[in-house]
Amino acid sequence: MQDRRKFIKTTALAVPALGSLIGAREAQSRDDATSTRQPGNVRKPLVVSTWNHGLAANVAAWRVLERGGRALDAVEIGVKVSEADPKVQSVGYGGLPDRDGRVTLDASIMDASGRCGSVAFLQEIKHPISVARRVMEETPHVMLVGEGALQFALQSGFERQDLLTPEARAAWEKWLEESDAMPKVDAQRHDTIGMVAIDAQGDLSGSCTTSGLAYKMHGRVGDSPIIGAALYVDNEVGAACATGVGEAVIRTVGSFLIVELMRQGHTPEQACREAIARVVRRHPGDDDLQVGYLAMSRDGEIGSCSVRPGFQYAVHDTSGNELCDSSSWVEG
Ligand code: ASP
Repeated sequence: MQDRRKFIKTTALAVPALGSLIGAREAQSRDDATSTRQPGNVRKPLVVSTWNHGLAANVAAWRVLERGGRALDAVEIGVKVSEADPKVQSVGYGGLPDRDGRVTLDASIMDASGRCGSVAFLQEIKHPISVARRVMEETPHVMLVGEGALQFALQSGFERQDLLTPEARAAWEKWLEESDAMPKVDAQRHDTIGMVAIDAQGDLSGSCTTSGLAYKMHGRVGDSPIIGAALYVDNEVGAACATGVGEAVIRTVGSFLIVELMRQGHTPEQACREAIARVVRRHPGDDDLQVGYLAMSRDGEIGSCSVRPGFQYAVHDTSGNELCDSSSWVEG
């Protein structure tokens, strides 16, 4: 069992209503908005990814990084572990379906040169992240969706397969019995893997892949394939990724915002906190909202923040692989 590093901030506030906190937290974020890290002191290689299942994904990514491989390969190979794992019910094979019982997948990837690719509403392909990479590398486009993405995947040699496992089907059938079949957008139904890495050459890349919110409307696309929302990489500045309620991330273009804030001198932690502040401000009174951001500067400094406690991320560097608790806007 890995030790957990605690990053949870302690304040005396116990707060169900998000809106009342905004002023104080924003002031705090502005007050200490300048990074103190010295240029030239780069922590590399390094890979970070969201949630507990990021630990296994990091191990695969690390195998690439430790032998001097590219961050781009690491972030693809890393998240494929979660995509293939039927126990991870929020990503790829074994992901919980939409309300019609269909597993629909979103994924994106971005490299150090600013190239990016994504797929959305893709069905019956186990590794959407690899299709996203093909979109990036082999087409003039950034994003393919639905049937077109599937046709492209099949033409590229990916095999079609049923992604709905018996366990995921049983969970969906139980949901059908218990719910009014209206999708809920809340803190309980997500766990996308987002990953960012810096390689031995100092280059950054990122990836993000998900089956999206469980029991969503058929055709719903979340933040994960939207460049700038769930993923953004700028090799001169840093990279960020997101998990949680995708609609809230899209509305605030979170990952791009975080990278731009880092460009202006915020540390990754401060940038994530400010991006969460924007989410909170846009959703006053939404007491079930969860979004988590994870960021890395180009010198390998890591930061994170979520709306509520519970968001975790995995960090793998030369000293090992460990799970960390994120700081949160609302204290537990
Ligand atoms: N961000 C994802 C979405 O909204 C959900 C998740 O984090 O799993 O599709």
